[in-house]
Amino acid sequence: MKKTIKDYNLTGKKVIIRCDFNVPMEEGRITDDNRIVQSLPTIKYAIENGAKIILMSHLGRVKTEEDLIKNNLKPVALKLSELLNKTIIFIDETRGEKLENACNNLKNGEVLLMQNTRYEDLEGKKESSNDEELAKYWSSLADIYINDAFGTCHRAHASNVGIASNLPNGIGFLVEKEINALENAISNPKRPYTVIMGGAKISDKITLIEHLVKEVDHILIGGAMAYTFLKAQGKNLGKSLIDTENVDFCKKMLDNNQGKIILPVDHIVSNNIENGNIKIIEDNFDKEDIGLDIGPKTIELFSTYLEKSKTIIWNGPVGYTEKNEFSNGTKALCEILKTLDSTVIIGGGDTAASIIKLGYSNEFTHISTGGGATLEYLEGKELPGIKIISEK
Ligand code: AMP
Repeated sequence: MKKTIKDYNLTGKKVIIRCDFNVPMEEGRITDDNRIVQSLPTIKYAIENGAKIILMSHLGRVKTEEDLIKNNLKPVALKLSELLNKTIIFIDETRGEKLENACNNLKNGEVLLMQNTRYEDLEGKKESSNDEELAKYWSSLADIYINDAFGTCHRAHASNVGIASNLPNGIGFLVEKEINALENAISNPKRPYTVIMGGAKISDKITLIEHLVKEVDHILIGGAMAYTFLKAQGKNLGKSLIDTENVDFCKKMLDNNQGKIILPVDHIVSNNIENGNIKIIEDNFDKEDIGLDIGPKTIELFSTYLEKSKTIIWNGPVGYTEKNEFSNGTKALCEILKTLDSTVIIGGGDTAASIIKLGYSNEFTHISTGGGATLEYLEGKELPGIKIISEK
């Protein structure tokens, strides 16, 4: 068992809490604050226990000077201040005297947020390459390090693995919740065990599919991903999105796992994503048709598997959920899943965002905050950000 924030006496200690405030933003405005909200229990616990709190997070990627403006963490400080009803000291630097003084002057229960850790990526990718000097410097600002950023645990960066290598450390409540939920679901799953896979890119999910196909009873495939599998069966799919490099992989999966991989039997298609004619078809794709959602017969077919399942993991929306017209399949699956008395885990990233947007945020056993981290955990990999944390 990993040490947690509860294993330390925090009173009067400077505690770095690495959060995942990598929230979607549009023109400096936060469009979904779920990740900030999920960080609150750990921050509140540290406040209540009299810690001097130094929050760190990345936001987006920083490669150019423009990225510095786009990925400024200031709006997160304001949001956090509103959610906690408390002043958050925002330091617009990732190193230097101003930051050091602010950390040293913190009083018990006060909270400081440092600028985006990835500002250190602009020259020499110091954060993302886990630069030793940077990790040592950040460690020098505090007494204790708590990792509560599940979304980055699959990466060895200076702000997670680096600092944890130099300070007494533990995980926060969010990381603990994520590990427990994922571990409970997959370590000894109640069967039937079914996975729903959707989304667009197969290349990102090859290892996951290879791993899960051995573990689960069925994989239901929707989203654009289904079209690459259907292509592998020699189907004509009009202009649907196909990951041509992975058709052979899909063919191998289908050949080696007969009866296990369940594909859509009908589709919502349109000749134009933005404003085309929408129709429901089975196999008869026209040249211009783009498959954008699963059809009613597929929902019916998938429901026969889901209703029997005791453990369900879902990764990737089964339609182009950015548009309402193509969100019905994803909504219908949510409606089926919410009535079930089974363990239902929503595997992060785009799936979580779609499901929250569609209004189902409280219906399932667990909605993971991680994207890549959740996928790697489900693949059975040990995540470096968690591995480095001391055992109890
Ligand atoms: P991924 O990052 O691979 O999980 O893909 C998520 C994205 O897949 C979302 O933006 C969805 O809108 C998109 N998506 C799902 N189904 C389709 C589809 N049939 N055609 C195009 N994009 C899709």
